[in-house]
Amino acid sequence: MDFAYDARTEELRERLLSFMDEHVYPAEPVAEEQRAALDSPWRTPQVVEELKATARKLGLWNLFLPDPEYGAGLTNLQYAPLAEITGRSPQLAPTALNCAAPDTGNMELLAQFGSARQRERWLEPLLAGEIRSAFAMTEPEVASSDATNIGTRIRREGDTYVVTGRKWYISGAMHPDCAVFIVMGKTDPDGEDVRRQQSMVLVPRDTPGVEVRRAMTVYGYQDHYHGGHAEVVFDDVRVPAENLIGEEGGGFAIAQARLGPGRIHHCMRLIGMAERAIELMCRRALERTAFGRPLAAQGVVREWIADARVQVEQLRLLVLKTAWLMDTVGNRGAHTEIQAIKIATPRAVVRIIDDAVQLHGAGGVSQDFPLAELWAAARTLRLADGPDEVHQRSLARRELQRYA
Ligand SMILES: Cc1cc2nc3c(=O)[nH]c(=O)nc-3n(C[C@H](O)[C@H](O)[C@H](O)COP(=O)(O)OP(=O)(O)OC[C@H]3O[C@@H](n4cnc5c(N)ncnc54)[C@H](O)[C@@H]3O)c2cc1C
Repeated sequence: MDFAYDARTEELRERLLSFMDEHVYPAEPVAEEQRAALDSPWRTPQVVEELKATARKLGLWNLFLPDPEYGAGLTNLQYAPLAEITGRSPQLAPTALNCAAPDTGNMELLAQFGSARQRERWLEPLLAGEIRSAFAMTEPEVASSDATNIGTRIRREGDTYVVTGRKWYISGAMHPDCAVFIVMGKTDPDGEDVRRQQSMVLVPRDTPGVEVRRAMTVYGYQDHYHGGHAEVVFDDVRVPAENLIGEEGGGFAIAQARLGPGRIHHCMRLIGMAERAIELMCRRALERTAFGRPLAAQGVVREWIADARVQVEQLRLLVLKTAWLMDTVGNRGAHTEIQAIKIATPRAVVRIIDDAVQLHGAGGVSQDFPLAELWAAARTLRLADGPDEVHQRSLARRELQRYA
């Protein structure tokens, strides 16, 4: 395994680092001010639109998409260090580069499984950053980490499908530009094979019967920059049969394919979040004095900093190894490693950010530093895309099988 950055990665890293310094970090306070003045908090502040235009001009656009027909054509190993950099400003940078979840997963899904017509109608405007999208799977009534529990019905009627169900924590759905939902539901609820009961359909947001009911909060945050996380009701929503993605019964398999890259992208950005927390921790420790000494002189603070550095280096290597495996043996072959990083990264990064919060005292939990919001975002990634315990369960099962 050779994890040295190749020439293309190095060049893109340089360009992205300059973009972050010159445009993204200075835009953070501006975006907050502009958002506060907007008629709807869900709209994109003008400065973010300007960041998007600049990123596009600089060739820092759709870097996440490995298919060169649609995106930059980077391997996972090439994209990993770039996604890490965007994680340093998770509210603005991924959106600026058109590399933000859930659109990234949805674009990959459409590129891989969408029909020519679906790609033209939805993928093209998503690639251009003109619309947003959401992925609707989780339901309040059932334990949704087990996809076989999903209760939403997708009923075939003539040349249409009728969708009925209630979803929540649907990221991006509060954004006024969110034009389409990819909805997971059951076309064959009594089918013998529980993994063939589900299908996915495209539901345009303006279809009668779609109600974006309310914004769910995340530890009190509304995640405006991500378009929030909504509760959405589908009440006898009728869409043309051609809106089915792939084949009937293929929903489970498509969801699996979608989540592999999504999970590693989250881990890459989490490492960037941890790096930002370490930087803030070090700067604060050097400039703040208590009991006659800078905080940096306290043994406990040095321990936090050292532990954080050791953990970030370990996590980065595991993420790079996973990216390399995905590139060389495919997402299936990298299954164990994808689960390992999904378990290890949010846990460790939550701890690192928490130490940084502690070092900042009251400032750490305040709106004057990004730490509180970083912590909430990292903490949710122990749940989103599958809770830790579900990944542990299946990873342990494979480990046990070797000895059974
Ligand atoms: C910020 C955020 C954004 C999200 N965005 C989206 C989105 O865009 N689209 C979408 O569809 N969903 C989204 N989700 C939902 C997320 O994917 C689910 O919360 C997650 O899959 C868990 O499902 P659940 O909440 O129903 O928990 P449940 O399935 O009820 O699980 C609850 C807990 O039970 C335990 N548990 C479950 N199974 C096992 C097991 N096998 N072994 C041991 N313990 C177990 C775990 O501790 C787990 O945390 C988002 C969630 C959050 C917090």
